[in-house]
Amino acid sequence: MTVNERQAANVIRLAASRVEEIVRGRFQEIDVTAEINQSRVLESFRKHRVSEAHFYPSTGYGYDDEGREVLEKIYADVFATEDAIVRPQIVSGTHAIATVLFALLSPGDGLLYITGKPYDTLLKVIGSNDQKSGTLLDLGINFQTTPLHDDGTINKKEVTRLLKENVKVVAIQRSRGYAERPALTVEDIAEMISFIRRQNKDVIIFVDNCYGEFVETKEPTHVGANIMAGSLIKNPGGGLAKTGGYIVGRGDLIARCADRLTAPGIGKETGAMLYSLLDMYQGFFLAPHVVSQALKGAVFTAALLEELGFHTAPRWRERRGDIVQTVRFQSKEELLAFCRQIQAYSPVNSFVQPMPAALPGYADPVIMAAGTFVQGASSEFSADAPIRPPYTAYVQGGLTYEHVKIAIQHAVRAVLQNSL
Ligand SMILES: *Cc1c(COP(=O)(O)O)cnc(C)c1O
Repeated sequence: MTVNERQAANVIRLAASRVEEIVRGRFQEIDVTAEINQSRVLESFRKHRVSEAHFYPSTGYGYDDEGREVLEKIYADVFATEDAIVRPQIVSGTHAIATVLFALLSPGDGLLYITGKPYDTLLKVIGSNDQKSGTLLDLGINFQTTPLHDDGTINKKEVTRLLKENVKVVAIQRSRGYAERPALTVEDIAEMISFIRRQNKDVIIFVDNCYGEFVETKEPTHVGANIMAGSLIKNPGGGLAKTGGYIVGRGDLIARCADRLTAPGIGKETGAMLYSLLDMYQGFFLAPHVVSQALKGAVFTAALLEELGFHTAPRWRERRGDIVQTVRFQSKEELLAFCRQIQAYSPVNSFVQPMPAALPGYADPVIMAAGTFVQGASSEFSADAPIRPPYTAYVQGGLTYEHVKIAIQHAVRAVLQNSL
């Protein structure tokens, strides 16, 4: 080690042990949340008498797949909804959300996003005049959105005005995506839902729950959301699900989504689960704990970087609505050094050097550090960043807290060496 390296290593080791003391109270709160969620999941497994037979792979049409039917009942229980779709044929979170939107919206209907511009990949689903074919816009669905206020609350005046315009679905995005705003807590979402309900009893309220599952003891469907969707390679897959997505909600809405996902008349009755059942059951069982590990990793990351003078969001003390942590660096070089070390301290592809690259849908090149077992799984520890000021890295996931703690210290060391 050079003098700089030794100096940086010492600074970080000391800061890390101070920080772990400071965050102890937060970690205890996270443990309590995990225990409550674990209990809800376990109760549902017991109630449905899950046995080895439920893990048996189905093939072909997948008729009478008992494992699939019970898994969907468990999701419905845990999210307190009438019904659920949990399938490997849902290829991603975007696909789950698109299925909901195409199922529920007909020509002439309105879709209103009250939490600002939706996640990048959903803009493609909604469509634009340049890229219209096959999109919601192409079907004659009217899309509107209004940004959140700086304090994270909805623009009530605008929402009230827009609600009068034949809106069929009101959409709420819990996590922030690449936007500069905090993730919503379930309490924030509850307030939004009761505001909408006071004005319109019938409008369907949909929540994009990606990155939010098991972060709190309640989910948006516990506080009035009619339908919700997410990805199994994020929180609810518990790191074990190899692919898939879920949709949970009111029975009539889920039936429409099932007809859209498969075909009218077929609905939920088919869909071979192949070899996905064991991973999905075991992953969902582990998910409350795995999410707690990711949350502790995020709190540690925030606290360590704050201690060293960096800007973070959320700050370590703040309430969290998702598992995403952002850290802001002074320069492109610091940002790249940080992301490269996250990759270098991953269990898979540690020897790969991530490079900023152009990605469809993004204005600036993006660097992605992800040495994950399941391709692109952000329940596993990963970092990504658009290469543009203010040089913000989005850090999320972690199957074990210990991994995040180790990797973050190496990443921060590289940043400090860079600036010493
Ligand atoms: C991850 C994510 C999605 C879906 O992304 P996929 O990569 O398609 O799984 C949608 N919305 C939000 C807020 C997300 O974080």
